[in-house]
Amino acid sequence: MFKTVTIPIVSNDKIVDVTQIKIYGNCPECGGQRGQSMPRFFWEENHVYECDGWENPCGHIDYYEAVRNESEQILSYQSLMDSVFTTIFEQSQLSAITENEIKHCKNMLLDYLTRNKSSDIQAKKAG
Ligand SMILES: [Zn+2]
Repeated sequence: MFKTVTIPIVSNDKIVDVTQIKIYGNCPECGGQRGQSMPRFFWEENHVYECDGWENPCGHIDYYEAVRNESEQILSYQSLMDSVFTTIFEQSQLSAITENEIKHCKNMLLDYLTRNKSSDIQAKKAG
């Protein structure tokens, strides 16, 4: 469900480095599968930076800025999940649950959060 991509780090409109980030495997606009990554080269002040580029089959364009924000959101969801799970396990001492099961549950929750914007979740709770 996740895809790791390399994107440029930009400072003052110039590429200064590259970084690997984790994004969803699906297009945030329509949910369709994201395209296959291909190397994309950028020249900046005598440096060549190799990043990933991809074309989504659905035609929606992923901009680096948008995927950077998406990866930050994933990280914040993950730390939220970690603290939720830590609290649950500390309180209930569910020692029978394996690491793998916990990982699976976290991924499912993360997936749920992605597919349902927080406003929709609030609306569902209210309804
Ligand atoms: Zn799309």
